Amino acid sequence: MIPRIPDPHLALVRPVRARTPQGCEECLSLGTPWVHLRLCLSCGHVGCCDSSPMRHARAHATELHPIVRSMELGEDWRWCYPHETFV
Ligand SMILES: [Zn+2]
Ligand SMILES: [Zn+2]
Ligand SMILES: [Zn+2]
Repeated sequence: MIPRIPDPHLALVRPVRARTPQGCEECLSLGTPWVHLRLCLSCGHVGCCDSSPMRHARAHATELHPIVRSMELGEDWRWCYPHETFV
């Protein structure tokens, strides 16, 4: 069920610019492929989605910042990893 109160993690959202708009930050240095890109809304980290082999966006969210935005063209939804919900 989607909670009616705003997600408390939204307090961590900042105006950010993608640090590596050309691709997933870790995959670019590792040389690994990705499927879709997610932008961390707290620091601008770009990570790869859960359909990608390395799932760097999820790793970043688990260790640091919970909320991402899709970087795919025409998509502007935000996702909270700890709550597993759109915010
Ligand atoms: Zn949350
Ligand atoms: Zn990656
Ligand atoms: Zn971050």
